Amino acid sequence: MTEGFLVFIEQRNGQIRKASLEALSEAYRLSEKVGGNVTALIVGKDVKALAGNLPKYHPHKVLVADSGDLANYSTEGYAAALAEGIKAVAPKYVFAANTSMSKDLLPRVAARLDAPCVSDVTDFELDGKNLLPKRPQYSGKAYTVYEFNSDLAFMTLRPNVFAAQESSNNVNCPIEDVQVSTGDIRAKVTETHAAAGNKIELSEASIIVSGGRGIKGPENWPVLQSLCDELGAALGASRAVVDAGWIDHQHQVGQTGKTVSPQLYIACGISGAIQHLAGMNSSKVIVAINNNPEAEIFKHATYGIVGDCLEVVPKLTDALKQMHANG
Ligand SMILES: Cc1cc2nc3c(=O)[nH]c(=O)nc-3n(C[C@H](O)[C@H](O)[C@H](O)COP(=O)(O)OP(=O)(O)OC[C@H]3O[C@@H](n4cnc5c(N)ncnc54)[C@H](O)[C@@H]3O)c2cc1C
Repeated sequence: MTEGFLVFIEQRNGQIRKASLEALSEAYRLSEKVGGNVTALIVGKDVKALAGNLPKYHPHKVLVADSGDLANYSTEGYAAALAEGIKAVAPKYVFAANTSMSKDLLPRVAARLDAPCVSDVTDFELDGKNLLPKRPQYSGKAYTVYEFNSDLAFMTLRPNVFAAQESSNNVNCPIEDVQVSTGDIRAKVTETHAAAGNKIELSEASIIVSGGRGIKGPENWPVLQSLCDELGAALGASRAVVDAGWIDHQHQVGQTGKTVSPQLYIACGISGAIQHLAGMNSSKVIVAINNNPEAEIFKHATYGIVGDCLEVVPKLTDALKQMHANG
């Protein structure tokens, strides 16, 4: 009988993803209800020091798969590492953040082990000691609650939905190595070139300022970027402006872009099409700036400002600048 949780901790360039810490914290909270231990697994090269940051998120154990061959993400290498982690602790549930990496990795390992995989989980229900993950369907119009008929199940958790819960006390737990046979990796990433873009990863940002066709043209991105700089926000976009070539696809929010769930989402000149809403309607506070009082986005917004976003946004930026200058 399998028991407990294994949480895959994603790191890139020596930085642990915040969304992985959220998944780890949620595993801990759920383990208090359904029982079982929580193990964190971190994979990469020279990641032992990073592993030392994990005990304060309450795992019972941390596993480290450290190898030069795992320096860059490769599906085969990381799948081998995750499979070793599963072999070591025989968990009932495998968690990861719903990121590009995990969306590649978890279904592969799940298929290999003939186990189910549910992605983009936003909530959990309980059936006794069993977890029933819940995820949005049809662009958030409906929810599906899943019941597993297996001893092992994989889930990716939507970033910014579950709170990362760090202990203020000095917490310790065993940190152990797992050996991974990396000889079978047929495709290796030898170099990566990051595209210029957001300093803050869109799917993990607490604040997003997004622009749509209402910003009139790509020459007006600096207007939104100044507001982003004042707020420490990431810059998002609707598909209309991505398709028009005004900005790179990595900024796109929505059904065919990124799903985001920030504390604050400011939609500037965005109409509120269902496909856009699908990517951001779980934001905690939505502010819409649109010159059409009938725009659909206002039906979903917490606060609405009817006006020209190219006039309203600079005023907001100036007000924030003033506020920051006054301490
Ligand atoms: C299969 C499929 C997948 C899709 N996936 C996505 C997706 O992932 N993400 C996405 O965003 N869309 C997606 N779309 C496209 C979506 O249907 C809309 O076409 C798109 O979201 C519209 O972008 P927009 O709001 O920027 O433009 P528009 O719909 O043209 O809206 C512009 C808005 O700006 C307002 N406006 C104009 N001037 C100003 C001004 N000066 N100040 C303030 N407001 C102003 C207008 O009143 C209007 O409401 C998808 C469509 C399909 C069919």
